[in-house]
Amino acid sequence: MLVKRFTNNWESRRSALTTHVPVPTLRRLPLYYRELKRAASQGLTHVSSKTLGERVGVPAVQVRKDMSYLDQKGRPGVGYEAQSLAAHLRDFLGLASEKQAVLVGVGNLGRALALYPGFHAYGLRIVGAFDNDLDKVGQRVGTLEILPVEALGDIVARLQVRVGIITTPADAAQDIADALVAGGIKGIWNFAPCRLAVPDGVFVKDEDLAVALAVLSHVVEQ
Ligand code: ATP
Repeated sequence: MLVKRFTNNWESRRSALTTHVPVPTLRRLPLYYRELKRAASQGLTHVSSKTLGERVGVPAVQVRKDMSYLDQKGRPGVGYEAQSLAAHLRDFLGLASEKQAVLVGVGNLGRALALYPGFHAYGLRIVGAFDNDLDKVGQRVGTLEILPVEALGDIVARLQVRVGIITTPADAAQDIADALVAGGIKGIWNFAPCRLAVPDGVFVKDEDLAVALAVLSHVVEQ
C-alpha cells in the first residue's frame, strides 16, 4: 500500500484543529500561561490586560483579543483572575495531561534536554533515551538508562508513547522518525537540522537552532 507522505508543521496543523484560534495567538498562549502562573506565585489574584501584555510584550488590546478567542473576559478595572485563567489555558493547551516522550540521540543537546526539569510543568515526561553509540548504551542520563536505538519502535509501541524528540545528526533523523511513526508516535519534536517526511496525522515541530542563530547573527551584524 502506498502511504501518503509529506512534510508538515505542528503550528499549522494545530491551527487547523482549533480553527478559530490564529497561529500567532496560539504562540502567545503559553507565554500568557507562564506569566499568569508567575503572577499567582507572586501573590497576585488578578492581572490586568495591560500588565499581562507588558509581561509578554504585546499591547493590552492584543491580550484582550487573544483571550476573546477562548471566550475569556477580564473584569473592567480588576482584570483577569490569574489562577483560573492559568487553569483554563493549561487545559486548552493540553498541559494538564501528562505526555510521555522518548528522546533519541543522547549527545550534548539530547543530554541537556533529557536533564531539563522544566518540561514537567508543561506535562512532558521523558521516559526513554536511545542512542546507537554502544559506548553510551547502558550509561545513565539522569534516572534513565540509555537504550539501544534498535529497541526504539518496540518500546514506543509497548509504552504507547506519543511524543518523540530527535536530537541526532540530520542524516540519522529520517530513519528514526520512521521508527517512531511505526511505533505509534503522534508528535515529533525535531532538533535535527532537516525536514522530516511523515504520514498524515503525525505532527512535526522543527527546532532548527542553526536557522535561529542565522537570523540572530544577521540582526546583530546590521
Ligand atoms: P557526542 O560527541 O557525545 O556524540 P554530540 O552532541 O556532538 O555528542 P552528535 O554527533 O550531534 O553528538 O550526535 C548526537 C547523538 O546522536 C550522539 O549521541 C550520537 O551517538 C547519536 N546518534 C547518531 N546517529 C544515531 C542513530 N542513527 N541512532 C541513534 N542515535 C544516533
